[in-house]
Amino acid sequence: MVKKLLLVIFAFFLSGCSTLYNPATGRNEFIMINSQTEVQLGRSVVNDFIKEHPLVRDQKMQERALAIGRKVAFVSERKDIEYNFYVIEDKELNASTFPGGFIFMNKGLMDVLNDDELAYVLAHEVGHVAARHIAKKIQSNMAYQLLLGVAFAGTGSGSGENAQTIAQGVDTVYNLISLSYSRKDEYEADRLGVKYAYLAGFNPYGAINALEKIKQGEGPSWKILGYFRTHPYVEDRQKALKTIIPEVAKKK
Ligand SMILES: [Zn+2]
Repeated sequence: MVKKLLLVIFAFFLSGCSTLYNPATGRNEFIMINSQTEVQLGRSVVNDFIKEHPLVRDQKMQERALAIGRKVAFVSERKDIEYNFYVIEDKELNASTFPGGFIFMNKGLMDVLNDDELAYVLAHEVGHVAARHIAKKIQSNMAYQLLLGVAFAGTGSGSGENAQTIAQGVDTVYNLISLSYSRKDEYEADRLGVKYAYLAGFNPYGAINALEKIKQGEGPSWKILGYFRTHPYVEDRQKALKTIIPEVAKKK
C-alpha cells in the first residue's frame, strides 16, 4: 500500500501544475493533481478498500447502482474520467468516494432508498468528484508536506529523515481520504447533486427524502453514524436544499 502510494506521489511531483476553469464549481482552480494522477491515486487505494469491504454479490443491486450512477454522471460537467459505481456489503447508511471517480454505496442505503433518492446520493458523490474536492484537499496538504520536506532538506538532515518526511506524506494522503468534507464542500456537492439528479430525469425532491431516511435510520440494526461522520450537518442541508431545488428545477 505504502509503496504504491509512494509511486503515485512521485508521479504527482512530476505532473506539474496549472490553473484550470472548473465548470462544476464555476471557478478557476489551481490544479497540481491532474486527472490521470487522481485516477492512479484512487485506484491504488480502492484495490485495498475492496479487499476489506467485499462487493455485494447481488448482480441486480450492482446494476441498479451502476445504471442510476451513469445517468447522473452523464449530465455532470466533469467528463475527463470514467465513473465507477459499486455496492459493498455494509448495513451502515453511508457512501464513500475515492479520488478518480470510484464511488461505493453501502448495501444499507440501496435497501432503503427509492430511485429518486438514490439518484441524489449518487449525484452528490459525483458532485464531490466533479468539484475535485478530494483532489484539492490532498494537494493542499501535499504542498504543506513538500514545504516541510524543503525545510528538512535545508537543515542538512540525512536520507533517513527525508524518508520519514515522505512516509508522513503517505499517511496524510490516506488519512485525508477518510476524513469528512468541509461544510462548504457538502453544500456544493448537494447543489450539484440535485442539479444532476434533475437533469437526469429524477425528482430532485428525492434529496430531502433521502436525508430524512438517513436521519431516522430506519430499522434497529442500521447505524446512522456513518453518514453523519462523512456527510455532516444533515438538518442544515435539508433546509438549504429546500431553497436550491426550486432554483435548479427552473433552469434547464
Ligand atoms: Zn458529501
